[in-house]
Amino acid sequence: MLITNGHVVTGDPALGTQEACDVLIEDGRITAVGPQLDREGAEILDATGMLVLPGFVDTHKHTWQSAVRHRCTELDLRTYFGEMFGRLGAQYRPEDVYAGNLLGALSALDAGTTTLMDWSHVQNSPAHSDQAIAALQDSGIRAVFGHGWPLTDLPEWIGGSSRPHTSDVRRIRHDLLSDDHALVTLQLAARGPELSTLDATSADLAMARELGIRTSIHMGCGPDFGAMAAIAQLEKAGLLGPDLTFVHCSESSNVEFELIAAHGASIALAPQHEQGMPGIGHTPIDRVRAFGITAGLSSDTETFGAADLFTQMRVGLVAHRSQLAERRTQHDLPAFGVADVFRLATQGGADTLGLGDRVGSLSPGKRADVVLLRATDSNLFPVTDPVAAVVSSAHPGNVDTVLVDGVVRKRGGVLTGDLARARTLASASHRRLLG
Ligand SMILES: [Zn+2]
Repeated sequence: MLITNGHVVTGDPALGTQEACDVLIEDGRITAVGPQLDREGAEILDATGMLVLPGFVDTHKHTWQSAVRHRCTELDLRTYFGEMFGRLGAQYRPEDVYAGNLLGALSALDAGTTTLMDWSHVQNSPAHSDQAIAALQDSGIRAVFGHGWPLTDLPEWIGGSSRPHTSDVRRIRHDLLSDDHALVTLQLAARGPELSTLDATSADLAMARELGIRTSIHMGCGPDFGAMAAIAQLEKAGLLGPDLTFVHCSESSNVEFELIAAHGASIALAPQHEQGMPGIGHTPIDRVRAFGITAGLSSDTETFGAADLFTQMRVGLVAHRSQLAERRTQHDLPAFGVADVFRLATQGGADTLGLGDRVGSLSPGKRADVVLLRATDSNLFPVTDPVAAVVSSAHPGNVDTVLVDGVVRKRGGVLTGDLARARTLASASHRRLLG
């Protein structure tokens, strides 16, 4: 396949941004980027009038909640926990997880997100995990399935729980997600020292490392969790490493940010949620920059916010600028620009998930996860700077075409996946759960 005549933002420092540029894809891999490439025998995808971008990478989303989207927009963090974990979560059947994940993955693809880290803490039974994975696979998105804990018997699993993570993740690793080069891969979505004992965390991380998978943990989400200094606890126990991603870290201390940087761990930010949901704190987007930490963006939960990363880029940049204004007299922080925020949503996210050598930029040798945006639309034309246009004004409605691993998942503004089926399943699940 040859994408022709696009305004290509490669995200690759060596290739930069090129007008009237082609992208050649062979067997799902990008093999060349440049003007006037040989089109002999290629299927042509005309990108005239389009911006051609690397697909966005969403580093943390509770996709299972997507069928009850907008349920928690007026809630603070504590009441969100009560609603989703205390009340609804235990009621989830495997088919509810499938419905939420299919809808959430398709809405991500619709918005140009080509890689999704599904942070799935609804493992009420092995069948729940199987259905979560099946929906991700059926959607066609590149996904990292984050295996979490059950929401049935919840008090047994949180609040200083000494229970280790369920061993069913071993079955999933061996039987379902053993191939780290497949479209759907595995991580541990662990409770960490804020929700379980340090011994339980230590056992969970040992299991993840034995299985050869990365681990993601929510950290410092709100002042109560921040005061537990869980990242410092991990460091003291010798457990910090580059295979760990911490979500939010909004109330983690600067000392802990230094530890994250020193051990090469990464952070998944969710600016819309961090700024918008009372009780989380403030997005630490200025601090990931100041401490030089690998970071990506995420859409967290559709019960509160939008499915797309355009929103996260925009809120993140605005939050950063307001933080700079507040702190100008105290700090001389390096400023984020639109290109830096765009990088968080693409290569930064890929690095955060440990997929940075496979996706995140339009570099020859990487998998072909590509997004075409109609730059002729009323909100984008005329383009002064393509990255500025994307970060400041673009929305999912501008996404014309989406390729994942070289396969077309959206074309002419229409998803190729079965959105009608996702709608039917999600409607039934929504009715039952909220009824
Ligand atoms: Zn989360």
